[in-house]
Amino acid sequence: MRIILLGPPGAGKGTQAKMIERDFGIPQLSTGDIIRLAIQNQTEWGKKAEAFVKEGKLVPDDVVIGIVKEKLTQGDLASRFILDGFPRTLAQAEALEKMLEELHVNIDMVLYFHMDAEEIVNRLSARRICEQCQTPYNLLSKPPARDEICDVCGGKVIQRADDRPEVIRQRLKVYQEQTEPLIEFYKRKQLLRVVPSSGTIEEVYAQVKELLKG
Ligand code: AMP
Repeated sequence: MRIILLGPPGAGKGTQAKMIERDFGIPQLSTGDIIRLAIQNQTEWGKKAEAFVKEGKLVPDDVVIGIVKEKLTQGDLASRFILDGFPRTLAQAEALEKMLEELHVNIDMVLYFHMDAEEIVNRLSARRICEQCQTPYNLLSKPPARDEICDVCGGKVIQRADDRPEVIRQRLKVYQEQTEPLIEFYKRKQLLRVVPSSGTIEEVYAQVKELLKG
C-alpha cells in the first residue's frame, strides 16, 4: 500500500505514520526527519537546508524531490510506503507523479489530517521530539515517562527550533499558501480521505485504521 499523509504542521502526521509503520509494516518516509538528521550531522546540503527550516520556510523543491527520488528508487520502498510531509507543494506533487509513473506504481490513498488553526498553535507549542531517534512527544497528550528522556532510546527530548511561536506562525502561512492547494489536487483524483484530527492520538488512529482496512 502506498499512502500520503497530508495536513498542517502539528496535526499528528508523524505520530500516526509511526503507528501505521508499527502495525501494518509499511515503511515510513518523513522528509522532515531526514532533513533534521542532515542538519544535525551538518552534511553539505543539511547546512544549506538549516536556514530555511529555522525560519519556518520550505526547503527548495529540487532538494526535497532529490531526497525522495533517491529513497523511492532504493530497495523495494516503491512497493509500499507512507509519505509523511511530502509532497508539500504542487511542484513536488507533480514530480512525485512522474517518479511513480516511471516505477509503474500508484498512490492508493491520501489521508488528510484536518485541524483548526488555533488548536494547531496550542499543539505545536507543547510538542517535543527525541533529538536522537525523532520519536514525537507532546507535553499535554503524550509526555515522555521520565522528564526530557526518550521512552524508546533514552535520548534527550527537546523542543524543535521551528516550534517557537514566531516560527509556528510562519509555517502556518507557508502551509496555507503552498500546501493547501494539494487538498484540491488529490480530491480531484478521488484519493483524498479526510481524518478529523482534534481527538486523542488513539481516536485519530482508530479512524486511520478503518480507512486503511477499508
Ligand atoms: P516537518 O517535520 O514535516 O514539519 O518538517 C520540518 C521542516 O522541514 C519544514 O518546516 C520544512 O522546512 C522542511 N521540510 C520537510 N518536508 C519538506 C518538503 N516536502 N518540502 C520542503 N521542505 C520540507
